Amino acid sequence: MIQQLKLGFVNAFLVRGTKAILVDSGTPGQADRILRAAGRGGVSLDDIAAIIHTHGHFDHCGSTAELRRRAAMKVAIHVGDADKLRSGRAALPHSTSLMARAVLAFVNTSFEPVEPDVLLNEGFDLRQFGLAATIVPTPGHTAGSVSVLFHSGEVIVGDLLFGGFLGGKLLPTWPRYPALADDYDQVRASVEKLLGLGARRFYLGHGGPLDYKQVLIHLSLRVPRLTHPAGAPASI
Ligand SMILES: [Zn+2]
Ligand SMILES: [Zn+2]
Repeated sequence: MIQQLKLGFVNAFLVRGTKAILVDSGTPGQADRILRAAGRGGVSLDDIAAIIHTHGHFDHCGSTAELRRRAAMKVAIHVGDADKLRSGRAALPHSTSLMARAVLAFVNTSFEPVEPDVLLNEGFDLRQFGLAATIVPTPGHTAGSVSVLFHSGEVIVGDLLFGGFLGGKLLPTWPRYPALADDYDQVRASVEKLLGLGARRFYLGHGGPLDYKQVLIHLSLRVPRLTHPAGAPASI
């Protein structure tokens, strides 16, 4: 079960199997807000077994250090973004959006660094947390961006796609390519990869969620050939 935690302009996610995991931790200073939201769903601090990061930016890793100080939880990120988490300083990709550039000029993008416990790679299996889900590397926004793909077809993609404008405040279910990315060709290929693996509902770092049909239409993507039987991305 995926619970979207709205933390201002960014989303984190609480996912429950036999154990609970967090996907991303918002900006710095959000630990209390995350724990209050988790508590409302019956999940306490000690129930959270791990924080999995979709990528290494300040608005997705910002409260990880504080959460781990309070309880023993594994901290996981793809090797391609591990240095961002280790240093707490990730230069953001160049943005094609004037508005994003203007806003980011005033934002402190550093955060308290954390040494990761687990380096994620293709096919990393979340069964150890009682979740029917795997990690799919989906580079483009950053080199080490990953998605969490559930056998149900739900997928948490971080900043691979944006929903709407102003961090999802406006038109949150309008699919867009991210306002900043290291490599837009890779972004497109990663979205197509997920569609080919059976992704049907996209949960985003900003705005969302999105239905895959809207993604196909708005982003003019080719209709993917499924690379596995629908809803069972087990062979990645
Ligand atoms: Zn990002
Ligand atoms: Zn973000």
